[in-house]
Order: sequence, then structure tokens, then C-alpha cells
Amino acid sequence: MGKRVKIRMGSPTEVGARVQGSDLYSVALKWSDGKLCSGCDCPFFEEHGNLCKHIWATILEAWEQGHLGEVTAGSLADAIIGAENNLVRDLTREDIELLLS
Ligand SMILES: [Zn+2]
Repeated sequence: MGKRVKIRMGSPTEVGARVQGSDLYSVALKWSDGKLCSGCDCPFFEEHGNLCKHIWATILEAWEQGHLGEVTAGSLADAIIGAENNLVRDLTREDIELLLS
């Protein structure tokens, strides 16, 4: 089985990816002024407008491949915690930083 996340475009502040979930989804991330702008075309994101697991998987994979170099784990943790995210709101800042380390 191949990777579920395919990074199609990566830079220090932007990533575009295809993520294989129950369907194939397109994810886009953009880091700007300490905020993470993200989009996914899955039903969860379209309904909640909020960070879905595909975006989360893309962040982790992009990090692993050395993209998003301008984003520090601490600033991303701040952005995620500030986003009132259903999926990750039970994570502590330490959890997030550990995931991203
Ligand atoms: Zn999604």
C-alpha cells in the first residue's frame, strides 16, 4: 500500500496535496501571518469548515518532507489551538509539538 498523502506542491509556506481517504481529496495549505489557511474538498470540511483529518495528515507529511519550513511547531500549535478544532481540541500543545517533531 502506498502513502495516503501525495504532496504535489511544497514550499516553506504552501502545500498542495492529494489524500486518499474514503475518496481521493485535494488539500491546500497556506501559512500566512501566523495563521494556517487550509482547505479540503471532503464532506467534513465542507460541512464544518474546519481542520479535517486529511489536512492534518497533509501537515504531518509535508513536515516530514521538509516543506512548511517557515512554520514552527509552536506557532502551528498556537494556530491549531486557536482554531477550536473538533478533531484536535483535546490535544495539548505538547501533544501537537510532539506530533510535529
Ligand atoms: Zn478533508
